[in-house]
Amino acid sequence: MKDDTMKRKQTSKCSFCGRDKDETLILIAGIDGHICESCVTQAQQIVDEELNQSEASAKFSMPNSLKPASIKEFLDQYVIGQDEAKKIISVAVYNHYKRLNQKKADDVEIEKSNIIMVGETGTGKTLIAKTIARFLNVPFAIVDATVFTEAGYVGEDVESILTRLLQVCNYDIPSAEKGIVYIDEIDKIARKSDNPSITRDVSGEGVQQALLKMLEGTEVFVPPQGGRKHPEQKMIKLNTQNILFICGGAFAGIEKIISRRTHKQQAIGFRAPDDQAQIESEDLLRYVSPMDLRSFGLIPELIGRMPVLSYLEPLDEEALKAILTMPKNALIKQYKKLFEIEGITLTLDEDVIDFLVQKAMEFQLGARGLRSICEAIMVDAMFELPSQPDVKVFHLTRDYVETKLNKEKIAKLKVVA
Ligand code: ADP
Repeated sequence: MKDDTMKRKQTSKCSFCGRDKDETLILIAGIDGHICESCVTQAQQIVDEELNQSEASAKFSMPNSLKPASIKEFLDQYVIGQDEAKKIISVAVYNHYKRLNQKKADDVEIEKSNIIMVGETGTGKTLIAKTIARFLNVPFAIVDATVFTEAGYVGEDVESILTRLLQVCNYDIPSAEKGIVYIDEIDKIARKSDNPSITRDVSGEGVQQALLKMLEGTEVFVPPQGGRKHPEQKMIKLNTQNILFICGGAFAGIEKIISRRTHKQQAIGFRAPDDQAQIESEDLLRYVSPMDLRSFGLIPELIGRMPVLSYLEPLDEEALKAILTMPKNALIKQYKKLFEIEGITLTLDEDVIDFLVQKAMEFQLGARGLRSICEAIMVDAMFELPSQPDVKVFHLTRDYVETKLNKEKIAKLKVVA
């Protein structure tokens, strides 16, 4: 009996940190030991971290059923046309997956398949990147290359690209390290060496150089709040090894470069003259090559780090019509949903769609124009109808649409263009 009490006295301390019962707030007894309140808290943190990590990696275990064709099928639900781009990107993403699941011990290391997309504004570049991220269920951030400058100059440091990614996943580092970043307007950081007034190319080549390491995969110190690096700001270490970078740009005028190159090839006998005529009449973008990007002003090192090159076609009337009505979240479906929530059924005449498409073509804003046109037309109804409980159907006729899209509104839309 005496022995028993002695033993209990001896073991009345935390078996983890060794603190005596008196030094703790709560000491919980187990079968063969004790744990104090602060060790419980620490243990909980360890459990959370471990679970987070295994959850993040579980998201990336490639299901056997996943094939490039199934990625493209998913894209098809949201993105109209752009078959070539969707195919190339599905393969790149599939390979990215394989790379993530590759065993470390393999001697053949699969390199990253960062992607660059060339295509006019509003043709679906951001949409493709966003849809891929949705498919993979990974954090996704969109950044604009134009806000970056070389370190030490006014503007944001390239590291703040990763701040956005961290922010969207609530600073969950393991998730961010497997995310996707879409860098828009990559063409705007092309080298501007032809311009004699620029003595120091702060926003062009310097930024391209700064991007290299990040795109390739390295440990980057990220300012948690973005902006400039402050010495007093505590940095977050992030490894970009598995982050997929997708870059996009309109590369205005690149057709001329492509045309010049293909002419040269013809001159030295690569192509028959008939083929050349064919190329002239077709959309030249489909022949875009890394060489053209280089002539445009991207440095070869950067082009090398984006091995997957794809192009997006300009959208024709048929495609715009399909965009309005077909994708899972097509604009018309979205408006129907908005009115449905109010208890109103939205219906429209067939020629309304034709009219919308015709206007979008006029403004040359690609599919982006469709949204602004629809907003301009719908805003009055969306303002008034919720206060009119008797209205159960809202029918759009061409006359209505034409009057709503009056001259003043058209003028505004053109300013955007
Ligand atoms: P950008 O090529 O300039 O990145 P976006 O992807 O941002 O263009 O397109 C703007 C909007 O236009 C998208 O949100 C989407 O609603 C629509 N859109 C553009 N292209 C397509 C497409 N190919 N299929 C479906 N919707 C599209």
